[in-house]
Amino acid sequence: MQTYLVGGAVRDELLGLEVKDRDWVVVGATPEEMLAKGFKQVGADFPVFLHPETREEYALARTERKQGRGYHGFSVYSAPDVTLEEDLKRRDLTINAMARSEEGELVDPFDGFRDLKDHALRHVSPAFAEDPLRILRTARFAARLTPLGFRVCDDTMRLMRQMVAEGEVDHLVPERVWQEIQRALHEHEPDTFFEVLQACDALAVLIPELAVPGVLEEALEALRCISGSDTETDQRVAALFSVLDEETARHRAATLKAPNDCRSLAGLTAHFKAEVTELCSMDRLPADRLLELLDTADFWRRPERFQALTEVLECALPEPERAFLKVLGKAADSATGVSPKALMEQGLSGKALGRAIREERLTRIQQSLPDTNN
Ligand code: ATP
Repeated sequence: MQTYLVGGAVRDELLGLEVKDRDWVVVGATPEEMLAKGFKQVGADFPVFLHPETREEYALARTERKQGRGYHGFSVYSAPDVTLEEDLKRRDLTINAMARSEEGELVDPFDGFRDLKDHALRHVSPAFAEDPLRILRTARFAARLTPLGFRVCDDTMRLMRQMVAEGEVDHLVPERVWQEIQRALHEHEPDTFFEVLQACDALAVLIPELAVPGVLEEALEALRCISGSDTETDQRVAALFSVLDEETARHRAATLKAPNDCRSLAGLTAHFKAEVTELCSMDRLPADRLLELLDTADFWRRPERFQALTEVLECALPEPERAFLKVLGKAADSATGVSPKALMEQGLSGKALGRAIREERLTRIQQSLPDTNN
């Protein structure tokens, strides 16, 4: 029985990057032997075990057999006679397919170290084509490593295009796609993720509305802007989808199975963008429309959400319309001063209270507005 450090840990160690998770592969062992050594099995389908002390993952060497299309179409085959090389061969990129033995020797049957030095993201073998998720992983590694000079190799790009043309990407389950998108949005250059997906035609399958020249550039500009600071996933998605109309933004976020907060911020951003464009064309700003916007954003109950939305709009709106956000912010600040408690103490309740709150907010918003809108 031999144990090897594999995958990301070996890659990151060689790149001089911080190693976060360490994954191990065990060759020549059975599940029973692992259990006898005190390892705990996790997951019923895969022979993966947790080390009794370090809690790191140890997987028995395995290979995969393709059964059908998409992510679920695999059967994992693991036995004591599966070799390390067979295990490494089913991995995605050569830089992810290196191992280090307990004696410290690098095992590198697919020239991952050469590709690491050449900054090449290259598929390990034609078996890459068996799992379309690898296209998204490759795009994500490009988003992470492009600042270090890495590029997707031409032959890997060709293979990815072929996989897309053969319909492989159509069968990916949305949960897996969303997981990769979410991770990619927090890599060093999230826009590169979408550029790689566009280059291999996968974007047209996954988010077709964005895969349009001109539209994509605008979306990526907003994404670059928002990801320049420490922002949340939902803000990044909202910035990316800000080029879509509200219905499309909501629909696409829903089909990607994005969480509710993410869907609503994407819809809200698109809604605001359309409203702001219209309002900015008016000579005078109508206070009731601004109040309506604040109501729609649920500003009174969730001011921090409104703040998050404003940050997105700072990136999504064209320069001249950004000035409106200051006006809206001022209006919001002035209307927050309305105290429902004070109105209740005056004896108001029910619908009358609601009307009084609204009237007072409107008055304050009106007072905060500039005389003309230009
Ligand atoms: P990260 O730094 O993002 O965690 P990682 O390389 O450690 O990067 P993991 O998702 O933890 O990524 O996967 C561990 C290893 O498993 C990878 O380095 C790669 O060798 C392999 N791997 C993971 N997913 C796939 C896949 N879909 N196809 C092929 N190999 C994969």
